[in-house]
Amino acid sequence: MGHPNAKTCRNCNSDLVSIGLLVDGSDLEMMSCDGCDLRSWRRAGIEIDLSDALGEFEVHAGRQR
Ligand SMILES: [Zn+2]
Repeated sequence: MGHPNAKTCRNCNSDLVSIGLLVDGSDLEMMSCDGCDLRSWRRAGIEIDLSDALGEFEVHAGRQR
């Protein structure tokens, strides 16, 4: 399973880049995969489906390494 603190993509097992965002007073975390560009979102540690709202946020999220 690897390092407990390392988040890896369930799809391709690459490292995920985690980006924290504050949206509408809620802490959102976007995890972007380096390998396959899969993105997942979590709010307060719970994975959520933000596909509908993605367009609003990705402009600000960008890519970080
Ligand atoms: Zn991946």
